[in-house]
Amino acid sequence: MSISQNITLIKEQIARSAEKSGRNLNDIKLIAVSKNMTADKAREAVAAGLVDLGENRVQELTDKHPLVEGAHWHLIGHLQTNKVKYIVGKVVMVHSLDRWSLALELDRRAREAGIVIPTLVQVNVAGEETKFGLAVPEVREFISEAATLPGISIQGLMTIAPYVENPEEVRPVFKQLRNISYGLREIPGVRMEQLSMGMSNDFAVALEEGSTMIRIGTAIFGSRK
Ligand SMILES: *Cc1c(COP(=O)(O)O)cnc(C)c1O
Repeated sequence: MSISQNITLIKEQIARSAEKSGRNLNDIKLIAVSKNMTADKAREAVAAGLVDLGENRVQELTDKHPLVEGAHWHLIGHLQTNKVKYIVGKVVMVHSLDRWSLALELDRRAREAGIVIPTLVQVNVAGEETKFGLAVPEVREFISEAATLPGISIQGLMTIAPYVENPEEVRPVFKQLRNISYGLREIPGVRMEQLSMGMSNDFAVALEEGSTMIRIGTAIFGSRK
């Protein structure tokens, strides 16, 4: 199967999930995760109409950035504070804001560049030790404080669900992220409009639970070496 055939199939699945849960397709963004893939493959996705590309490493993002015309880059992986300077102006969104030092550095670099960086706060809903993200009880206070920083604009939440064979098992994780997001809507300066959740194996369930951004790698590009 080609990349464009995979994209067509996924779009059909997205349409089915949207219909099943009474959601508007315009509220759902498909992000092609091109990590470990060549710039050629990333270009194929853009040519097939998928302009939103996700990378989890800064180096890979900045390498591909000049090579893939027309792409909108999303940083979806852990971001080291000393690498923020390399991505300012190159990304449409940072999905992985997970600590105060990173919020301060994003804010500082964005203000220097005269821009505002759209961000999502990563939440470790399932409390997995191997994953980044704020613990659930920390989210409200963190967002209230980060919302005062003029260089970043907090637009929602992101989570990575544990890998499971049967995606039904992680439905509660997605449900919980949505509930947390509802509970934060009244914080001044915060727009809780985006829920970045769902990957190749669990995006259908994530969409049923209100995901607005799904991050798909394997199901588009094939397995990573
Ligand atoms: C790799 C990755 C994805 C995509 O995973 P697939 O299972 O290949 O779809 C999504 N989100 C993040 C944060 C990732 O690192």
